[in-house]
Amino acid sequence: MTPRCCAVHVHTTLCDGRDTPEAMAAAAFAAGVRHLGFSCHSHTPIPDDQGAVLPADMTEYRSRVLALREAYAGRMEVLLGLEWDSQSDVSPAGFDYWIGSVHYQSGGGKFYAADWGEAQFAACRDELHGGDALAVTEGYFAQVAAVAARRPTILGHLDLITKHNAGGRLFDESAPRYRDAALAALHAADPAATLLEINTGGVARGYRAVPYPALFLLREWRAMGGRVILTSDAHSADAIVFGYDQAAELARAAGFSHSAVLTAAGTAHCSL
Ligand SMILES: [Zn+2]
Ligand SMILES: [Zn+2]
Repeated sequence: MTPRCCAVHVHTTLCDGRDTPEAMAAAAFAAGVRHLGFSCHSHTPIPDDQGAVLPADMTEYRSRVLALREAYAGRMEVLLGLEWDSQSDVSPAGFDYWIGSVHYQSGGGKFYAADWGEAQFAACRDELHGGDALAVTEGYFAQVAAVAARRPTILGHLDLITKHNAGGRLFDESAPRYRDAALAALHAADPAATLLEINTGGVARGYRAVPYPALFLLREWRAMGGRVILTSDAHSADAIVFGYDQAAELARAAGFSHSAVLTAAGTAHCSL
């Protein structure tokens, strides 16, 4: 078993992915994945999300994934997961696992995306936080803390708010206020219940040079006794295990010797 045999942060055309569940499964199997989990975005009431997240009725999603479980039985395990958004209006119960993620802050009847770029960040800063950029990050991490406290199987892209912050152009990631907010979110997670993902999706799509989350957060998670799992947040069939070598290197730099593999029988751990 190697980290590369597990891919459990996977999107499809049923949310905002480019490829069908069937195409993602075929690509995963060809890439050597033996524990594949689908994690389409959960439904939210946000108008801009419609069509990019699952419908509130997840019957088709369930049946497509469960059909793939049958089709690959004995060759590759297929898990039914969900990337549950903090604004979601459906429950993450009833899935094999769930990834808890924050993609928005809300206020004044509006939603501000954490990962849609500078204009959304600036609007959130100026309309919700009086022009205080670090307050945007504190608002984001307060939501991450609330999701972490719900004990997701995996805590998703912990510091997604840094996606468009190359060179510190939106805020200072070394500021004590920033670091304190991020660490408080991490401390809200239970290392015995939740895995932290090292997510290469931002690298795969060209937004970042390194995976989420930052090294200081991984080191703190290690000190807390936490475990990590490598994920690609794949939105296309060519990215199923994108950047796992880089993610493994980051994990080792933080002191981890193993990463988690989700299986139908529970969580296993393999050497990095
Ligand atoms: Zn996400
Ligand atoms: Zn995702």
